[in-house]
Amino acid sequence: MNTVQQKNCIFCKIIQGEIPCFPISNTDTFIVFLDINPVNKGHLLLVPKIHAETIFELPTTVASELLTSMKSIGSALIKSMNAHGLNIFQNNYPVAGQEVPHVHWHLIPRFTGDKHIQWIRGKYTSNQEMTDITNKITSVLTHESP
Ligand code: AMP
Repeated sequence: MNTVQQKNCIFCKIIQGEIPCFPISNTDTFIVFLDINPVNKGHLLLVPKIHAETIFELPTTVASELLTSMKSIGSALIKSMNAHGLNIFQNNYPVAGQEVPHVHWHLIPRFTGDKHIQWIRGKYTSNQEMTDITNKITSVLTHESP
């Protein structure tokens, strides 16, 4: 496994053992540890060991192992914390809330009534607008798909 690190990256420093963390799991490909500023107790970060800034730079081999790790960590998290649900979030770029430019997944245990994460939702103005947006996305997807 290629564990290329970046010098000034806080998660690379955690991976290298230069900064301490509360580790949950440590494999060749991923490290999982407690988020220092949890949304709820037990909030975990699942971090690929290879330095990639966003999901778009993550090698496909690592990406393909991701769901398996998420399933086992997520299921252990729900059981151990007696949670009633689980959110899995991943932010790309600062405007989307990414503070640490080393791709990672948030696993957040949820408890009935905690109301900790709420999205503000909008509406489309018409079916025509929905059609236009559908066409815009599918047209790029068609041209960029391998
Ligand atoms: P994001 O905003 O998606 O980039 O999330 C970055 C997360 O990293 C935040 O939830 C921080 O609380 C967490 N974080 C930053 N530094 C540390 C650290 N040294 N140990 C554990 N979690 C950290």
